[in-house]
Amino acid sequence: MGETLAESDLAGIRGDFPILQQRVHGKPLVYLDNAATTQKPQCVIDAVSRYYGEDNANVHRGLHALSERATEAYEGARARIRAFLGAPLVCEIVFTRGATEGINLVAQSYARPRLGPGDEILVTVMEHHSNIVPWQIACEQTGARLRVCPMHENGELMLDAFGELLGPKTKLAAVTHVSNALGTLNPVDRLVELAHAAGVPILVDGAQSAAHLPVNVDEMGCDFFVCSGHKMYAPTGIGVLYGKAALLQEMAPYQAGGEMIRSVTFEGTTYAGLPHRFEAGTPNIGGVIGLGAAIDYLTGIGLARVARYEEGLLTLGTELLEGIAGLRIIGTAPHKSGVLSFYMDDVHPHDIGQLLDDAGVAVRVGHHCAQPVMDYFDIPATARASLALYNTEADLRALAESMEHIRGFFGV
Ligand code: PMP
Repeated sequence: MGETLAESDLAGIRGDFPILQQRVHGKPLVYLDNAATTQKPQCVIDAVSRYYGEDNANVHRGLHALSERATEAYEGARARIRAFLGAPLVCEIVFTRGATEGINLVAQSYARPRLGPGDEILVTVMEHHSNIVPWQIACEQTGARLRVCPMHENGELMLDAFGELLGPKTKLAAVTHVSNALGTLNPVDRLVELAHAAGVPILVDGAQSAAHLPVNVDEMGCDFFVCSGHKMYAPTGIGVLYGKAALLQEMAPYQAGGEMIRSVTFEGTTYAGLPHRFEAGTPNIGGVIGLGAAIDYLTGIGLARVARYEEGLLTLGTELLEGIAGLRIIGTAPHKSGVLSFYMDDVHPHDIGQLLDDAGVAVRVGHHCAQPVMDYFDIPATARASLALYNTEADLRALAESMEHIRGFFGV
């Protein structure tokens, strides 16, 4: 197996994704909106379809054959995700709806009961709204306040400031691994070290990293890590929260109902152990099974190879876009992963999005749920091309050619 993906691998990989075979507006589809959601390989579609076609039943309850098969598939996926993320224990893997729900769970079940007036939560200026608003709410509920670590103009985090902002009042730090708006790859190992040196637990938002870089939460040392299945070639509506067992053990339930209890009487209720205490109600069984299949698919290819391949694509894409007059790349940190956000003076990003779509090129335009980042650069929005393992050099050349055309059209 090579160190990166070769052209010969790409033909096979692209063949695994039926959706990529189509034409849009008469042009071959060039899908570059992977930070919003990735496409699904046939093996994931088949796993979900097989579950509904052959094994559909509720989990953990039935003694009948279908329920046993569904439970085995559901818990089997949890075990594979534990290995994929490098978590020490299976009970540290909690299924959620996505990264957003994972962060809300930690904000309400971990942070809220530990916060009081004057306490602080530390985030960074490049966070997705999902890693800002849940903390703002927890702060409003408790009188705590949010502190924000600034960044340099290239989108690199100010590490010194991060260290300085961690103080005796900081109860938790929450940082993104990879910025969805800038592509910045944050030095999470160092951030964990800094937080722990100050006695502060840290959550890492892995929504944009888990499918693009090898992740090992144990080596990273983070206390919590969240990710979303739909950005990892799996279905929507399923995600993962990793939390250190010692912390999860101390946390109150997030939602209450079936599946999360040990026994219920009107006098009182005792809760199930980890991780089921945090999985109230019938879970997204099909989603978990799809996520398990996506993890197998990614592991089969190898995350180190994916990372190297996407890094090569990012370098090429950066060179191509930098060659276009009037185009400015937003986010030029030395360490980046898979995101090319750009802005063209005098052309509204929505026009760029529309014209690229006419050419069959799918990108995202807008503030990417990171309005503080747009405010920082004093722009309303960017166009964003984001990569996945099935993208090719030809995709990036199609993007650059279309952008050159758009530049000419607007006379920039
Ligand atoms: N964090 C980051 C960095 C993201 O890019 C996203 C999705 N754009 C999220 C959190 C939220 O993910 P989800 O909507 O899947 O919960």
